[in-house]
Amino acid sequence: MSRFTLPRDIHYGKGTLDVLKTLKGKKAIVVVGGGSMKRFGFLDKAVNNLKEAGMEVRLFENVEPDPSVETVMKGAAAMREFEPDWIIAMGGGSPIDAAKAMWVFYEYPNTTFEEIIQPFSFPELRQKAKFLAIPSTSGTATEVTAFSVITDYAKGIKYPLADFNITPDVAIVDPDLAETMPAKLTAHTGMDALTHAIEAYVSTLHTCFTDPLALQAIGMVFGYLQASYTGDKGAREQMHYAQCLAGMAFSNALLGIVHSMAHKTGAAFKNGHIVHGCANAMYLPKVIQFNAKNPEAAERYAQIATYVGLKGANTQELVKALCDKISDFNKSLNIPSCIKDYEGGMVPEEEFKAKLHDIAALAISDACTGSNPRIPTQEEMEKLLTCCYFDQEVDF
Ligand code: FE
Repeated sequence: MSRFTLPRDIHYGKGTLDVLKTLKGKKAIVVVGGGSMKRFGFLDKAVNNLKEAGMEVRLFENVEPDPSVETVMKGAAAMREFEPDWIIAMGGGSPIDAAKAMWVFYEYPNTTFEEIIQPFSFPELRQKAKFLAIPSTSGTATEVTAFSVITDYAKGIKYPLADFNITPDVAIVDPDLAETMPAKLTAHTGMDALTHAIEAYVSTLHTCFTDPLALQAIGMVFGYLQASYTGDKGAREQMHYAQCLAGMAFSNALLGIVHSMAHKTGAAFKNGHIVHGCANAMYLPKVIQFNAKNPEAAERYAQIATYVGLKGANTQELVKALCDKISDFNKSLNIPSCIKDYEGGMVPEEEFKAKLHDIAALAISDACTGSNPRIPTQEEMEKLLTCCYFDQEVDF
């Protein structure tokens, strides 16, 4: 038995923020991040649209990047006090992820993070409110996914929440909001989207429902990300849709070890974070080489290569052509080829080697590893991460 879940409505296109004018309800709480939505006037526009729809509106502002348990609990308390029948989450991945978790604790005040950490174990939502998400970056696709990541800073734990209950009811994918992204963020979030689509396509949980979405997203990222990076507005619009299609695929097919490795290397080093999308971009060609030792996975990568018009006499050549294409793509987006070169040597070799064993163990136990087409041993994961550090060929 399988399930394929998406939002009830996905409104897309320039100016679709105006759909808020037609929303039916009494009270809406708008959850936003640090201020870019306000600065560019989108927050005011959203609030005015909701008022035009006859709703009483309250704001919950300043959700931080990598939102905390405390922020979630504060937001849930604000919701319990205001009693909205719509939760409107707007901005990058963080405010939308935070609002998803607030929703759970708004509807079930007595539940705990420990109780919902088990994937697909949430209580039945939509008893008090429905959820509408409006993304301003083109990458995480949290507006259409069943996932949210919340950080417990006191315990030093990231809670990856997963349940179709938190798949939003409505997504508004308006490219006007993504036009404000800086170039570097465009590159990183775009490569995150490409990784979502490729990992979903080769996932052990991929289906005939998720495959077309993944392939279409891959084709669009290869077609539009470079122009979007250099500021082409039409390409930026297409990337906003491509990342959403990738999200529809991976929310239902799940991901793989590129994400496991990005999650566990992200905050592991003392001089700073390795940005999620950039980590994915660096690890993706290496993981393809590793997974392609599984013949079924190799066949799937070859299908992707053929779909995007790459040439090769056999499966092996097609897989290599795909890896080369991703590496060239990274170069054109000014993404380094390995951890060693990240941010001018931010991660020293000694620190990497000292932490390698633990990072590899954590990556193997990451929630994304289970659906990867080849499950690495501890030794293999250490070797794979080492190849990602030095930009070495993966031949095991
Ligand atoms: Fe991602």
